[in-house]
Amino acid sequence: MKNITILGSTGSIGVSTLEIISAHPDRFRVIAITAGKNLELFARQIKQFCPRIAVVASCDDVPRLKDLCSGLDVTILGGVEGLIAAATADETDMVVAAIVGAAGLVPTAAAIRARKDIALANKEILVTAGHLFMELVKEFGVRLFPVDSEHSAIFQSIEGHRSEDIQKIILTASGGPFLNTPASQLVQVSVRDALNHPNWNMGKKITIDSATMMNKGLEVIEARWLFDTPVEKIQVNIHPQSIIHSMVEYVDGCVIAQLGTPDMKAPIAYALAYPERIETGVKPLDLTVFSGLTFFNPDNDKFPCLGLAYRAINAGESMPAVMNAANEIAVAEFLDGRIGFTQIAETIERTMAAHSAHDLCTIEAVLKADLWGREFARETCKEIGR
Ligand code: NAD
Ligand code: MG
Repeated sequence: MKNITILGSTGSIGVSTLEIISAHPDRFRVIAITAGKNLELFARQIKQFCPRIAVVASCDDVPRLKDLCSGLDVTILGGVEGLIAAATADETDMVVAAIVGAAGLVPTAAAIRARKDIALANKEILVTAGHLFMELVKEFGVRLFPVDSEHSAIFQSIEGHRSEDIQKIILTASGGPFLNTPASQLVQVSVRDALNHPNWNMGKKITIDSATMMNKGLEVIEARWLFDTPVEKIQVNIHPQSIIHSMVEYVDGCVIAQLGTPDMKAPIAYALAYPERIETGVKPLDLTVFSGLTFFNPDNDKFPCLGLAYRAINAGESMPAVMNAANEIAVAEFLDGRIGFTQIAETIERTMAAHSAHDLCTIEAVLKADLWGREFARETCKEIGR
């Protein structure tokens, strides 16, 4: 039996993780779950999975959650201290990091220090603090399993191979909802258009990141740290069908890829049950129904965010954390209707231009850089917004 904590159980990844767990009650038990704002769903999850600890992000929501869960045998906590208690609960073997954004950094780092294995969906952790995070993983001897579909594909494609034989990592990208929208029309696209992803049903923030292609930029940085690969060896191919989830090219010219129906339950299950493969309910892949699988290079002029991410990781130090912070703010401002779609990239670019990268030696220093990026980006949005 593997004991699981899910940070962010009410999100898209959290819900899919609970689906896998409920299909395999003989394998997995839920010890702790945490959520942000959706208290009704959270209370239903607490009733169904009977965790020992349940945590809401804001302490103000604790009384209401206690009301919703009256009569249940669960310890209800709130705030960052609560998230850390969930992440470090004694019985927990593995923590599924499925909070969105840099908010997941502190509890996930605490989980590593408590020697929990990590199933990592929360890519912003590696973007903001990749270097420190990978050092912690090594220092505490925990195992880190990627959940992001591309990184799970790479993980599966490098197993049994020597890292020095890798020539290139090829991350595939669907291209998002605006793949075929003329660049001149991106200025006026609506929030609704941007949330309409062709292949994946995900949380709002990552869906907007997919529309701007920042998601792929974050994933390049995520791959750089997860697989200890220089960014020059990480390439992005647009692949609109999202069937090949990523590929690894070796020095002998051979390419190994992982394919499947696009459904996050597959990479989640692989991370949870590794090295075993378990049933997921994911629709089997029938390649004969596709008239063709296509691949091409991204349009960096139309989608500047991918280039900004390469610029940030090349600048290194605090720049990726600042870029991530600016992106989180700009996406939230776009979702709230205060800036336009193309102003997301503009906000990030201006914030990065105003920042001089400096060394980040501690998680506290990362949080400080993150805060600086957020404040600058917020001001920028006020200045350029509508
Ligand atoms: P989501 O918005 O659906 O869910 C996020 C979860 O985090 C929710 O439970 C929410 O309540 C919680 N949360 C949000 N802000 C919080 C805060 N400040 N403190 C504590 N908890 C907070 O997001 P998602 O789509 O499930 O994505 C989660 C992470 O996984 C993201 O980093 C995303 O990039 C990554 N990811 C998601 C997918 C996907 O298919 N959804 C695929 C690959 C990677
Ligand atoms: Mg992905």
